[in-house]
Formats: sequence, C-alpha cells, structure tokens
Amino acid sequence: MKLDKSVIAITGGARGLGFAMARRLGKQGATLALLDMDADALDHAVSALYGEGIKSSAFQVNVADEDSVKQVFRDIAASLGPVSGQVNNAGILRDALLVKAKDGVVEKTMSLQAWQQVIDVNLTGVFLCGREAAAQMIEAGHEGVIVNISSISRAGNMGQSNYAAAKAAVVSLTTTWANELARYGIRVGAVAPGFIETDMTASMREDMLEKLTAGVPLRRLGDPDHIAQSVAFIFENDYFTGRVIECDGGLRL
Ligand code: NAD
Repeated sequence: MKLDKSVIAITGGARGLGFAMARRLGKQGATLALLDMDADALDHAVSALYGEGIKSSAFQVNVADEDSVKQVFRDIAASLGPVSGQVNNAGILRDALLVKAKDGVVEKTMSLQAWQQVIDVNLTGVFLCGREAAAQMIEAGHEGVIVNISSISRAGNMGQSNYAAAKAAVVSLTTTWANELARYGIRVGAVAPGFIETDMTASMREDMLEKLTAGVPLRRLGDPDHIAQSVAFIFENDYFTGRVIECDGGLRL
C-alpha cells in the first residue's frame, strides 16, 4: 500500500508504541487519525507530530464503546476521507494472579472487573474498530490494511490471564479476518512486541530491569520504533497477510 495516499487510524495513538507508529507512518506520508481516550495526551501528540512536520488529527474515543466507535469512524470519514489503514493498538494491563494463596489459604483472586476491563479494551476494542474500518474500506472500494497489536504474552504469562487471553484472541481475529477480507483486497497482520522501552519500563527498579534484559537473547529492550517498523512493513508488503511478526529480541526462541 502506498502510505502517502492513505488515511491511517491508530488506536492508542497518543503515546507509547501508538505514537511511535504515528511518527513513522506520518514521516512516510500517511494522513493520520489518532484515536485515544486521553484528550490531553492527544493534544500533546498532535502538536509534537506537527513540530516534526507531520499532520495528524485527534479523535477522542473509548474503543470498547460500540456507539462511540461507530461515531468516530463517521467523523474520520467526514474530515479526512475513508480509512485505508487501521492499527488496533490501544491496550491496558490489569495484572493479577488467578488465585494467590499462602499455606493453603486463598488471599486474593483476579477480580471479574480486572478480567472484563482487559477483555473489553484489548479484545472487544479490536473487534469494534476492525469491523468499522473493514466496512469503511469495502464501501470506499479501495484496498486496505489492518494491523492488530498482540504481545509475547499471547503464549501465556504469569499474572496475566486476562491480558494473555485477549492477546492470543487478537491473533485468532487476525487469521480469521485475513481469510474473510482477502476477497475485498484487505490484508490483515499482527505484531507481537516483546519488552519495549516505554514509560512502564522507565519506572521499573534498576535490578528488575536488569533481570528482564538478561532474559532477552539480544540483551537489550526494544525501542518503540522497532515495533513501528514492523507495522510499516505490514503496510508496505502487498503479499503479507494473516501472519504475526514477533519483534522481541529473540525472547521466544
Ligand atoms: P501505553 O499505555 O503507553 O499506551 C496505550 C494508549 O492507549 C494510551 O494512550 C491510552 O490512553 C490508550 N487507551 C487505553 N485504553 C483505551 C481505550 N479504551 N480507548 C482508547 N484508547 C485507550 O501502552 P503501550 O506500551 O504503547 O502499548 C501499546 C500496545 O502494545 C498495547 O496493546 C500493549 O498491550 C502492546 N504491547 C506493549 C508492549 C510494551 O512493552 N510496551 C509489549 C507487548 C505488547
């Protein structure tokens, strides 16, 4: 897909990995719609991109709310034109062990709320935005690309029943959509990042961070732009669909 002719919507585009994707795709000429819940972060992101000569528009939305998602895609089409690219990147963590016990006594369990919040944003949000984006691409009659952001945690990870389940399901959505949407000229791919340097890792204790890094074969954390590069690759490679790019420094080897 020619990035300089495309309108690309990025959920969770106001910070972190989503912002790095916006910067990279914007530098390659894409017109950007940043979708995020955080209005202040959106303002900050749009002006930071503008400072780098990249034009983007902010759309405040909760990806887990069906009516708001439908409305925001109508708003994007009205102001920028129909999307030809969609990155489903917004995600949250609500980590907890399924059951935490000591000496045979259960102290804590993962709450239904923690389960549901993560499923709502990380899975239902992907479904809702992917559905609107695909419908818009088909009605516009042009080719399209959808990229879903999974995680290495999709293989299962302690304390992440909710997150790991959602991130594995995002891969199932990717292969299902790739099959269903190929007939309309829409390609669908996923990226599964490993440990990436973000606000989260910056706030970690140094010894914890060292332990984390030691477990990565490349012995370093990834940079948000490494993930952005993988996303850009999926946009640009017209024969890529239905697969997951694992960008994790070899963590899953
Ligand atoms: P982040 O917390 O820095 O940014 C996430 C953005 O999503 C925020 O701007 C937030 O406001 C927005 N958001 C959250 N809930 C939303 C909602 N309901 N509606 C709209 N926007 C919402 O996160 P990040 O580290 O940049 O992660 C981005 C994606 O990459 C997530 O899906 C995450 O699971 C995945 N991931 C990250 C890492 C990592 O190391 N950072 C590793 C693997 C996977």
